[in-house]
Amino acid sequence: MKLCRFQPLEFSSANLGRSEKSLHPEARAGVIEGAEVREIKSLFGAPAFTGNNWPLDEIHLLVPSVPTKIVCVGRNYAEHAAELGNEVPKEPLIFLKPPSSAIGPDEPILIPSISQRVDYEGEFAIVIGETCYMPAAGEDLRRYVLGYTCLNDVTARDIQKRDIQFTRGKSFDTFCPIGPFIETDWDLASATVETHVNGQRKQFGHTSQMLFSTDAIIRWIAQVMTLVPGDVIATGTPPGVGALVAGDTVEVSVSGIGTLRNPVAAREA
Ligand code: ZN
Repeated sequence: MKLCRFQPLEFSSANLGRSEKSLHPEARAGVIEGAEVREIKSLFGAPAFTGNNWPLDEIHLLVPSVPTKIVCVGRNYAEHAAELGNEVPKEPLIFLKPPSSAIGPDEPILIPSISQRVDYEGEFAIVIGETCYMPAAGEDLRRYVLGYTCLNDVTARDIQKRDIQFTRGKSFDTFCPIGPFIETDWDLASATVETHVNGQRKQFGHTSQMLFSTDAIIRWIAQVMTLVPGDVIATGTPPGVGALVAGDTVEVSVSGIGTLRNPVAAREA
């Protein structure tokens, strides 16, 4: 099942063209089936359909969940750790991105003038479906997972290096594209993560190369903080990170899920 959050585009007059459609101010949850979105009452629990359906080209996809936190795993692929001159961590290395950095598909990533080097980091992300805190040893963690999506952990690399702490370099508004939707049925064991910039493949990795499994990551985080429905966990980036500049289009593709596409523009300052 493909879960999403969306706003219906509405014609103010049946004669107006696409560019004149206005955005409906209200966010809704939905299930994508073929070329249609079927509205549901909530992203969580068994889907309760409202009976309202829209064609996909008459809606605007939003960030697929509303996280209270976005927890990221650093250096979870050995080759990526090596390309930045870092050791492979012995335990998961976690950091946070603020919810205010999240944007949906097709929304622009804005490059701030105070950074000279902004990188893409294509990743797959876990979306939490049930409250999880200190799960029992041996407990099956799948019940806490709503599904999976694509995420771009955009990073001001120069600021990250200068500060040592990751907060500033990882937290600019627009630095966390998420989407395009949440796939609830996904075979993680045989998936690939790729990033293309302007159609050229820059990153490629296989989930089998991850140093820490999704279970290990969820357990590690939930020893520290309560994960609540909608929270997002980014699982780390494969090798091949590189710079983005204004005018680029960046795409993060996860096999079996889909492609998250965002344009890149300069921030005004
Ligand atoms: Zn990352």
